[in-house]
Amino acid sequence: MNSPSSSADGVVHGVRLISGDVVDIAMSGGLIVDIKKSTPVASRQTEGFIDGREYLALPSLVEPHAHLDKAFLSERIDNPTGDLMGAINGIEAARESLTYGDTVERATRATQLMSSRGVQSIRSHADTTVDSGLSNVHALLEVKGQSSSIIDMQVAALIGWPLTGARGADNRALARAAIAAGVDVIGGCPHLDDDPAGALRFLFELASEAGVPLDLHADENTRLDSSDLEHCADLKLSTGSTVAVAASHCVSLGVQPEDAQHRIADKVAAASISVITLPLTNLYLQGRDRTTHVPRGLTPVSLLRAHGVNVAAGGDNMQDPFNPLGKGDPLETAGYVVLAGHVLTDDAIHTVTTNARQAMGVAPVDISVGAPADFLLIRAHTLREALAMQSTERIVIRRGQRLHSRL
Ligand SMILES: [Zn+2]
Repeated sequence: MNSPSSSADGVVHGVRLISGDVVDIAMSGGLIVDIKKSTPVASRQTEGFIDGREYLALPSLVEPHAHLDKAFLSERIDNPTGDLMGAINGIEAARESLTYGDTVERATRATQLMSSRGVQSIRSHADTTVDSGLSNVHALLEVKGQSSSIIDMQVAALIGWPLTGARGADNRALARAAIAAGVDVIGGCPHLDDDPAGALRFLFELASEAGVPLDLHADENTRLDSSDLEHCADLKLSTGSTVAVAASHCVSLGVQPEDAQHRIADKVAAASISVITLPLTNLYLQGRDRTTHVPRGLTPVSLLRAHGVNVAAGGDNMQDPFNPLGKGDPLETAGYVVLAGHVLTDDAIHTVTTNARQAMGVAPVDISVGAPADFLLIRAHTLREALAMQSTERIVIRRGQRLHSRL
């Protein structure tokens, strides 16, 4: 794989790596074929030449938890209480206005924005409710197909609740229909169910039968009695299930007593469950009922990492009733992991690259000879500066080709 750069069909010249080394990266056939100490060049006009001076090279970014079907709804749907149920109720009240074509248009816009930031892998949940049926699933599957040249997408059916008892029959049928429609991942919100443990068992069995990963909206609250994450770890350990599981949010773990946190983190590590923290949205939604000792809407990131849990980070909602802000930039998310999660910058980048890929069950990508030529050049001298400035001067390289020069 160590071909000389002269035979490459593209070269990034003079780019800085996170290590500080300044290198030339040669690409051919969609792969990185050579990385060597940068040397001066006589001409920069040849086809495939990219001037990487003043840029830092980062592995392609990952968005492991998005809601593309709800993107850019802030101006159309209010959330008067500002909390989770205010957002959910707002969406439900406006459901009829969210047509298929409208959803495809907004999701496409969000996907293109994320691509321009440097995202090349995304997992998006799609609201799958009795009222909306499979409309959002079909819309996001369409966007997935149309966007495959710029981004790899997984669509997760976010099944409504309840999933248990007689009242849950329609949602259970819908979950099976979503699998048949071709979703990549199954998901749901056990903590909002009448019977959280029962809902979890159903989702586990369904994922197992269908052979798809499970990604839960787990414990998205600050209640001490919310136990989705522990139930999930117990279920996986007791059944020996091989279903790949990601638990998103896991906010309530952040308010548990320390002994409970350690007990649960040990189980989560043993069960190989990835935790996806979503700081932007949860710092916005949770803790609104308190004025003192306000809990952070954040899972205990450092504690989970110390127990060996794979922790990834996502943006969750973007400019909708759940989060009026957000710009589709994993570097913004990683910045919150630094500031609110107390993770060092060198580690925080992994939550939106390597760890996020692991949570999604896709192969790792790094900047090394033989790896796919999928990476991001961002105007910065150091990783810390990239996270601080989040420069919009970016060059996205995918399969060895330049996708975008500017946002
Ligand atoms: Zn979510």
